Amino acid sequence: MNQSAIRHPPSAILPGATIGVLGSGQLGRMLAIAARELGYRIQIYSPDNDTPAGHIADKEWTAPYEDLETVRAFASGVQVVTFEFENVLSMTTDAVSEIVPVRPAGQVLHITQQRLREKSFLRDNGFPVTPFRRITSLLELQNAALELGLPAVLKTASFGYDGKGQNRLQSEADLLAAFKALNGAEGIYEAFVDFAKEVSVVAARTLNGEFKAFPVFENAHANHILDVTFAPAAIPEKLAREAEDLARGILEKLDVVGLLTVEMFVTRDGRLLVNELAPRTHNSGHLTIDACVTSQFEQQVRAICGLPLGSAELKQPAAMANVLGHLWANGEPNWAAALEDPLVKLHLYGKADARVGRKMGHLTATGTSTREAAERVQLARDRLRRPK
Ligand code: AMP
Repeated sequence: MNQSAIRHPPSAILPGATIGVLGSGQLGRMLAIAARELGYRIQIYSPDNDTPAGHIADKEWTAPYEDLETVRAFASGVQVVTFEFENVLSMTTDAVSEIVPVRPAGQVLHITQQRLREKSFLRDNGFPVTPFRRITSLLELQNAALELGLPAVLKTASFGYDGKGQNRLQSEADLLAAFKALNGAEGIYEAFVDFAKEVSVVAARTLNGEFKAFPVFENAHANHILDVTFAPAAIPEKLAREAEDLARGILEKLDVVGLLTVEMFVTRDGRLLVNELAPRTHNSGHLTIDACVTSQFEQQVRAICGLPLGSAELKQPAAMANVLGHLWANGEPNWAAALEDPLVKLHLYGKADARVGRKMGHLTATGTSTREAAERVQLARDRLRRPK
């Protein structure tokens, strides 16, 4: 028996092997960087070219996800496939899994890519969620408003992210317009959660059931897009343990091999409610690159390749601020000014076109307290802005 067979389970995909990724955005880019550091090769598949992940990859495939012949050719040249967004088509993951494992598996994607399936899975397995109803007609919407009350949030069941396809309902007068906005799509009516905070747990699980969660992150949004993340979250220790236990239960129930992020609300009376699952790395986990022993991207590589997981411990308090396209309004942001603080780190995703709301990069700062790190990172971001 050779040395590597002794140290690792027989299913381990060892450094030198090639990882395939469906999707080519910043999550794929940071995964590719981590994979390369560990000595893996990496191939990216998406309909686009010259992409954030493609810049780092050994090979960038540019073809539609429906082009199953090309998908199979891509799968034949790699040892394992993962994805960096959840709207991957089942036909694509099915075609891949005929050839190599997809991690997390297609079944996890199937549940998490549709809000009704996701919330039903959570509720039916005893995980706490806000009450919800399926909406396919105005009558169902009116009944939901009667049963669950107002205010509420009406979301499209599929393809919504960053608040897209989402409407807040204050009174009965809002129902008709919100129903029309669904435009024939299936909807989900959610009782409004009067939350104190939004938090997330990014967690990893391996084929043999090893589990590790990063510390709970606290997330502040602006215009429905993540704005700043703080770690550790300012919540009681007991609640943080509860959040981690919830994440563990969910990853185990879904039999996740890889990473999964659980977005949660902390209600004003101190309870946790799960809002959303993402079967992948998460924007709130970006600070792990600079602040944790193992980054979320390295953890993803370890989990999908069957290596032991790294410590998810936070080395020091940290904060992350997203750098969005509007910061280019008066020209190229002032990178040097942001980096005047030596505890601030810049991560740019190599995107050429700075559209408003587009995630172009992020800044991370560490400090002796979360508050100090948060101040640092926000001051650094303020310095990016060029005067008019
Ligand atoms: P989502 O697309 O489900 O992640 O929702 C985007 C954001 O909308 C969340 O981060 C919350 O700030 C808010 N939100 C979503 N669902 C609810 C809800 N049921 N009650 C209150 N706020 C919500």
